Amino acid sequence: MVMACRSDLHQLAAFIYGAGLAGLFSVSTFFHIVFYLGYYKKLKEVLHRSDRAMIYIFIATSYTPWLLLRPMPLDSWTLHLRWGIWVLAVLGILYQQLFHERFKMLETVFYLIIGILPSLAVMDMEDASGLEELKLGGAIYVLGVIFFKLDGRIPLAHAIWHLFVVLAAFIHYYAVLTYLILPSASESTPSAVGIVGGVEGRAPETCDASLPECSSL
Ligand SMILES: [Zn+2]
Repeated sequence: MVMACRSDLHQLAAFIYGAGLAGLFSVSTFFHIVFYLGYYKKLKEVLHRSDRAMIYIFIATSYTPWLLLRPMPLDSWTLHLRWGIWVLAVLGILYQQLFHERFKMLETVFYLIIGILPSLAVMDMEDASGLEELKLGGAIYVLGVIFFKLDGRIPLAHAIWHLFVVLAAFIHYYAVLTYLILPSASESTPSAVGIVGGVEGRAPETCDASLPECSSL
């Protein structure tokens, strides 16, 4: 995704997004392996806390391409969610480290708030492309939370929760790539034109349409 980017801002957004995605799945996988092994009590505790903290970071990084790359209405409160989401993530992590596993329902509510609130900013944007995928992925995450909460009550509930997470993350990845990253890659920069039109390094405005090598532009 980072390789497909044309501008520094797109590259930054793709990098933050990719790092959050890779971070979440790495920490979660590592935690579950150690959990499964049963020993290393201290490491398991540290990883459990990291796993929970990583969810806040993952949510903030998931929204980063939307909030950073897409024009936002300047007169709306939702503009503040650009930085506000990181404040919420830091507050969430602080809360979660202080009250780890103590008020589980409240923690789930916090995850839902930070997970859903920034979508209001995306809905507020003029460009609504990809919003359907964003909502679908979000709905799958929320459905998954039901299974997360049913852990121990129905068989394989926790595994089902993770399947929902993988599916939702995949849909969001597809949307970010399709609607936010790739459109920037196909913008007519000279090098892009060179590849597409076969005219090396020549921008459309410098090309005479009457010339055969420029007629395809
Ligand atoms: Zn898990």
